[in-house]
Formats: sequence, C-alpha cells, structure tokens
Amino acid sequence: MKTLREYIKEADEKGVAIGHFNISNLEALHGIYNAAKKISAGGGSAFGGKLPIIIGVSEGEEEFVGREEAVALVQEIRKRDNYPIFLNADHHYTFESVRDALLAGYDSAIIDAVKLPLEENIALTKKCVDFARELSKKENRDILIEAEIGFIGTSSKILDAVPEGVGEDTITTPEDAKHFVEMTGVDLLAPSVGNIHGMVRGGNPRLHPERVKAIREATGVPLVLHGGSGTMNEDFIACIKEGIDIVHINTEIRVAYRDAVKKFLIENPDEVVPYKILKPAVFAIEQVVEARLKLFYGIK
Ligand SMILES: [Zn+2]
Repeated sequence: MKTLREYIKEADEKGVAIGHFNISNLEALHGIYNAAKKISAGGGSAFGGKLPIIIGVSEGEEEFVGREEAVALVQEIRKRDNYPIFLNADHHYTFESVRDALLAGYDSAIIDAVKLPLEENIALTKKCVDFARELSKKENRDILIEAEIGFIGTSSKILDAVPEGVGEDTITTPEDAKHFVEMTGVDLLAPSVGNIHGMVRGGNPRLHPERVKAIREATGVPLVLHGGSGTMNEDFIACIKEGIDIVHINTEIRVAYRDAVKKFLIENPDEVVPYKILKPAVFAIEQVVEARLKLFYGIK
C-alpha cells in the first residue's frame, strides 16, 4: 500500500483533496468508513478503486476513544480490507502528546502551537519534526508532521459568531508560511485562509482561494484546510484547485450524530438497546461523509 505522503502527492496532482474526519467513538468510525467504501465501490477509480481517508482524533477525542484503541481500530480495517485509511493525531498541543501518539502508531500528528509567538511555534514544530524523522527511520515508517500558522479559533461546535481573535489580520501571509516551512521542515501546513473551526449560525465566512495559491507557491508543501464544516461548496472547490490537499470535517459529523440520537430517543423513548439507538447516528454520519467525499474527490 502507498504511504500517506504518496496519497497526498497523488491527490495534489489530481486536483482533489483527501477527507479528514474526526471520531469520538466507534459509531463515527463505522459511518465514515461505510461512506468511503460505498463511494470507492461506485467510482473511486481515480485512486485504483479505493479512496484514501484520514481519521482524526484530537487530544480530547483521543482521551475518550483511547490512544492505543484508536490505532487498533484503524489499523485493523487497513489490514483486513487492504484499505488506505490513516490515523492522525489532530491538534495536539505539546511535544509529549505528539510523541506519545506517534509512539502508539499514529501515521501523522498536528502540533498546534498557533497560540504561541511565531518563533516558539517554529521551535516546537521543529522538535516534533525531528522526533518524527527519527522514529520513521527506526520503525521503517513515513510519519508526517503538520503545523498551523494563523489563528482560526479552537472549538468544533455551533458558534453564534466568528470567534474572537479571528479576522482579516490573522490570515496567514505567504512570507510567514515560507519562513515557517523553511525553519521547521514540516510536511504539511494548515494556514488561515478565512476558515474557522466550528460552524457559525447564519453561515461561515468565505474562504480566500487566491491566498491558498500564494501560500502553496511560496512554501511548496501540501496545504490542509481545517474547519471545513459549514463551508460553501464552491469555496471548497476553489481552494482544492489552488493547493488544498486535505480537508478537515468535524462539526458536521457531531451535529449529524447528535440530531440522529435525539430524534430517535424522542420517537422511541422506551428503547434501551444501544445498537438500535445508535444505528440512525451511524447512517446520518455516513450521509454527511458521503456528500463531502464526493465533493472533495470531484465525484458526481
Ligand atoms: Zn482543526
């Protein structure tokens, strides 16, 4: 099987993006994987029949699912079905948490030091990159490190307004991005290009595809779009065309899960069987992911 780095390169060349979907439990993993399998069976030929996907767990999600349990779940699917499904340590805030995830077997990690001054973000990211290179050599793997510059908010939930501290002046400049990549050797970069974490009631801000293009050209590394939930389809398409190779979706999955469980319990207040209560949630997640994957992979 190709490595995640090779799949990202392929996505870049084909002008598509790999979907990154977060999980907090097994139901979400099933919903996401069901969607990926379904689309792959129906038209995933662009990637030899199987469309790569990335499963993300943030520090909070990782604590809930279990660090090693998440690795076991994803690796079992990869091995059993020979399916290109990868596991990313999404938004890890310290060197230690990145290190522990990589030691447990994660394919990639995001060191999120965006709240630190730029030079401290650079130093911490470099430390994680050095560790990943060493571990890759030792374990004969190709571990990727992603970092973030330009603040885009922190919470993947429904927001009443664009988070404080996010605005036109926090959008990443090509100069900062170039400096950052040169100093750290980071594999993937998550810039701020109008995107925010979470979904704003009344609509998310518009993205800046021209900034994506400028950052991609200045840095030469694949770019990752965080906070994809709530983004307009045409903005996704424009940014993927200009150099976004991975798109993160989390809040939309959480909303689908919550709404499905709520609806089921209101309609069936006496049901106590977990696999009956949660089945509609698995299907609701599958539908969200299916629509997003079709968009990211340009499948009609
Ligand atoms: Zn994110």
